[in-house]
Amino acid sequence: MTIDKFNFAGKKAIVRVDFNVPLDENGKITDDTRIRGALPTLKKVLNDGGSLIIMSHMGKPKGKVNMKMSLGQIAYAVSEKLGVAVKFAPDCAKAGDAAASLMAGEVLLLENLRFYPEEEGKPVGIEKEDPAYDEAKKAMKASQKQFAKTLASYADCYINDAFGTAHRKHASTAVIADYFDEGNKMLGLLMEQEVKAVDNVLSNIKRPFTAIMGGSKVSTKIGIIENLMDKVDNLILCGGMTYTFAKAQGGEVGKSICEYDKLDMALDIIAKAEEKGVNLVLGTDCVAADDFNNNANTIVCAANEIPVEYEGMDAGPETREKFAAAIAGAKTILWNGPAGVFEFDNFTAGSKAIAEAIAKATEEGAFSLIGGGDSVACINKFGMADKVSYISTGGGALLEAIEGKVLPGVAAIKGE
Ligand code: AMP
Repeated sequence: MTIDKFNFAGKKAIVRVDFNVPLDENGKITDDTRIRGALPTLKKVLNDGGSLIIMSHMGKPKGKVNMKMSLGQIAYAVSEKLGVAVKFAPDCAKAGDAAASLMAGEVLLLENLRFYPEEEGKPVGIEKEDPAYDEAKKAMKASQKQFAKTLASYADCYINDAFGTAHRKHASTAVIADYFDEGNKMLGLLMEQEVKAVDNVLSNIKRPFTAIMGGSKVSTKIGIIENLMDKVDNLILCGGMTYTFAKAQGGEVGKSICEYDKLDMALDIIAKAEEKGVNLVLGTDCVAADDFNNNANTIVCAANEIPVEYEGMDAGPETREKFAAAIAGAKTILWNGPAGVFEFDNFTAGSKAIAEAIAKATEEGAFSLIGGGDSVACINKFGMADKVSYISTGGGALLEAIEGKVLPGVAAIKGE
C-alpha cells in the first residue's frame, strides 16, 4: 500500500517516526528538523480524518526508564507543529485504553520505545560470550514479538516514516509490520522520499558520478567506499582519513588522526581504485594546527609532510581546488562526512569548498544527495541547504542503503 492511496478517515494509524531530536541541558529542542520531517505524513492522516498514535525512540536508554530521554519533553513541540493538542502515554506498552479512546483528529504520543529492551530486542545484562546468551536471545526475540503485537493492537494501520532507524530490525521499525496485512502497512512520505533519493543515486546514475566521503575514520566507511568503487567515476576521500592514506604511502603525519592499523586497508583502496579506473582524489596539502582547537597556530603543508607537533585539521588550498575540479561537471553527487574539523570555524574551508562546488554542479543539473549528520550540519552551517537536491535524514541507514543493503524497515513493508 502507498500512503497517498490510503484513506485514513475513521482509522487509527500508528506511525513510527524519528523524534530523536537533540535537547539542551534544560530539555529544550536545539534542532527540530526531525519533527518537521515527519509532518507531511502526520498531517495526511489527520487531514483525511484519521487519528494518530505516534511512536519513537530518543537517545540510548538501553532498555531502562530514563526521564532525561522522555518523549514527554517534546510533546509541546509536536503539538505546536501539528496545530492540535497531543495526549501523552507515559508507558508505551500500556497505552491500549488511551489509544482506544482516540477520536478522529486526535493525537497520542507514546513514551520512548527504548525504555523497553524489547524494542531493540537485545538481551540485557548478559554478554555474547556467556553460554546462556543464545537462550536469552531467543527469549528476548519472543518477548519482542509480544511487544510489537501490543503496539500493533493500538491501531488499524501502520506507517513507518523513520528513515533514521530503517536499518534496524526493531519491534517498531520492522517486527510490528507482521501484525498488519498488506493493505494496512505503508512507508511514510519522508521514507518514500529517502528511498527515492537513494534510488536516484544507485540505479539511476547520470555520469559523471562523484562521491565524497569524509569524516574521521576510513574503517567506519570501508563498506560504502568499496561499494561505491564499482559505481563512481570520481571518489574524493577527505577529512581525518586523509592521514591514514598519507601514512600508508610512507608520509609523515605528525599528530594527525591516523588509523595505524588500517594502513593496509588504505593501500588496498588505492589499488582497487586504479584497477577499476576510478579517479581517486586524496588531499595533497592541508591546514595543520599545533593544537586541537579553533585558535591554534596553523600552517599549510603537504599532507604527507606534517611536522611532528602539528595535526592535519582541514584540506589545504591546492586540495580544495582538486576537490572542486572533481565535483565540477558531475551529474550525480553523493556527500557524506566533512573534509575537516568543521565544528571549528577556522577549519571549515575544505568542507565549504566541497559544498560550494556541489551547489554549482546542482545548479547546472546534477542530482546531489547529502547525508549523514555531519555533512548535513555542514551544509546548514553554510546556509546552503536549499542549494542541493536532497538532504537525507539518515546517517547509518543512508550509508547501509547506499552500500546496497536492504533496509529491514523498508523490507518489512515492501516485502523485499
Ligand atoms: P564521522 O562521524 O566519521 O563522519 O566524522 C565526522 C567528524 O570527523 C567530525 O566531527 C569532524 O570534526 C571530524 N574530522 C574531520 N576531519 C578531521 C581531521 N582532519 N581531524 C580530526 N577530525 C576530523
